[in-house]
Amino acid sequence: MNDPLSTPDAAWSYDTAAVQTGISRGLGETIGFPIHAAAAFQFETLEQAQDEFQHNQGLSYARIQNPTVRALEERITALEGGAATVALASGQAASLTALLSVCRAGDHVVSSASLFGGSTGMLTNILPLMGITATLVEGGPEEIGAAMQDNTRLVWAEMISNPSGAVADLAALAGVAHERGALLAIDNTCGGAGYLCRPLDHGADIVSQSLTKWAGGHGSVMGGSVTVGKRHDLSRNPIFAGGEPSLLAQRGPDALAWRQRWFGAHQLGMTLAPHSAFLIAQGLETLALRLQRESDSALALARWLEQHPRVGGVSYAGLPGHPSFPLVQKYLPRGAGAVLTFDVDDPSRFLSRLRVLRIAPNLGDVRTLVVHPWTTTHGRVPEAARLAAGVRPGTIRMSVGVEDVADLQADIEQAL
Ligand SMILES: *Cc1c(COP(=O)(O)O)cnc(C)c1O
Repeated sequence: MNDPLSTPDAAWSYDTAAVQTGISRGLGETIGFPIHAAAAFQFETLEQAQDEFQHNQGLSYARIQNPTVRALEERITALEGGAATVALASGQAASLTALLSVCRAGDHVVSSASLFGGSTGMLTNILPLMGITATLVEGGPEEIGAAMQDNTRLVWAEMISNPSGAVADLAALAGVAHERGALLAIDNTCGGAGYLCRPLDHGADIVSQSLTKWAGGHGSVMGGSVTVGKRHDLSRNPIFAGGEPSLLAQRGPDALAWRQRWFGAHQLGMTLAPHSAFLIAQGLETLALRLQRESDSALALARWLEQHPRVGGVSYAGLPGHPSFPLVQKYLPRGAGAVLTFDVDDPSRFLSRLRVLRIAPNLGDVRTLVVHPWTTTHGRVPEAARLAAGVRPGTIRMSVGVEDVADLQADIEQAL
């Protein structure tokens, strides 16, 4: 892991970094990540233990750090082009950690309203329990800018929102956030762990994501991660700039990454298990191949569905008619991702007739999965917010897998 030949090379492309990062080179070294099934790690002296408990830089107790998880974190840092990553037990754990790392009681968050249901719930139900308020805004950077307050510490948006497909205008959102001394956090779940887009390259300060989706890729594991960018200005955030000595003075440029690990792993214990880290690291090795094919198939299916007489409301940002199409051209050169939505007259009948597509509430699986968001993923979201998120009573959400696109098309056709 400390071998210079295994550390990420900034010149590596995504595909190379995905399979090379974190794997040591040398006689007898494993090809692939060793799983460190351990709850604790040894010291040889009192002084070593004392030093580790003071600085938390190395290994002591696996709630805080584990070598398998650390290798995955290095890989994600390389793929997202960040400075540091903490991997956690789920995407929800990652969102909570990202939010709490820069907000405390009395602070405020502005978010795009076009969100995954779990994120809407966290912003509107969980944060207020801690005295943090959130404003969810329909619209883009202009409307988000208008909702900013003096106590706004964070702007939150999804790279490609789930399920509406709205694409974040990263440069404009970063401008709006930074002008007021806030940070920009992007949920890059549908950006595929940096494959479709690396928000940190375009002004975002924090990337949070569910690794359960494209990173795991096989419906077999849960995880999440928070990555901090190489440049972020916390000088106007009292958590970091206040106090004597301030957190910034104590921790320097690592202050934000330190606080994220401290919150998410050390204090809240939302630690990723090493076996899960192994599965996710292995999933990342084929993410580029899978997601490219899935995104290409999603575009082909979206074009076909758009012409289908029994289908309405096809929403896919890769189609020229989608409001985010210009942002796809700007930020997503490899494609608009694997998720699309469309409306059918009788969703219950449509879903029960499927023979290849499967009904399951996940994204990024190698198999094509569909859900009826109105009654499931967004069932608890207030109706107006559901509609704002692009969820109507007839809407089907589809996460396209790697199957032959002709088989997918034939299955949809017979079910319609
Ligand atoms: C699934 C998802 C999450 C939550 O991730 P889990 O791993 O299910 O906790 C967060 N954001 C988005 C966009 C998601 O799709």
